[in-house]
Amino acid sequence: MRATGLPLDERGRIRCEAALRVVDHPEVFAGGDCAAVPDLAAAEPDATCPPSAQHAVRQGKRMGANILASVRGEALNTATRGRSPAWAYTGAWPRSTASR
Ligand SMILES: Cc1cc2nc3c(=O)[nH]c(=O)nc-3n(C[C@H](O)[C@H](O)[C@H](O)COP(=O)(O)OP(=O)(O)OC[C@H]3O[C@@H](n4cnc5c(N)ncnc54)[C@H](O)[C@@H]3O)c2cc1C
Repeated sequence: MRATGLPLDERGRIRCEAALRVVDHPEVFAGGDCAAVPDLAAAEPDATCPPSAQHAVRQGKRMGANILASVRGEALNTATRGRSPAWAYTGAWPRSTASR
């Protein structure tokens, strides 16, 4: 990350705007675990999105749409819609459940 020369936060993530443009580098977009993206849904004003798949997948979609919008000279989307539940698999289903 350091080798990119892009602005990084204290955790080494690329500092982005909510539209996923890199701060001071409007020609570069970043998202997912490597990016510090403002979490507009959080109560704290300086919160950034945690490194999770639910954020990475949404940011990937938004980034694609925003790159296209940027090329077309259209407004970029900063929308953050709520949160999806996170799922964890904790082991084999009980036989009684699996056989139903
Ligand atoms: C053990 C574990 C469990 C998790 N469980 C959950 C969960 O239950 N729910 C949840 O929401 N999130 C979970 N996460 C977090 C989730 O996996 C990540 O937030 C998500 O994968 C981030 O997506 P990403 O695309 O930003 O990065 P990644 O999925 O890490 O993708 C980055 C890709 O870039 C490639 N790459 C790296 N360097 C280079 C390079 N120099 N050149 C080219 N390619 C490169 C990598 O090989 C990789 O394929 C978990 C993570 C871990 C480690």
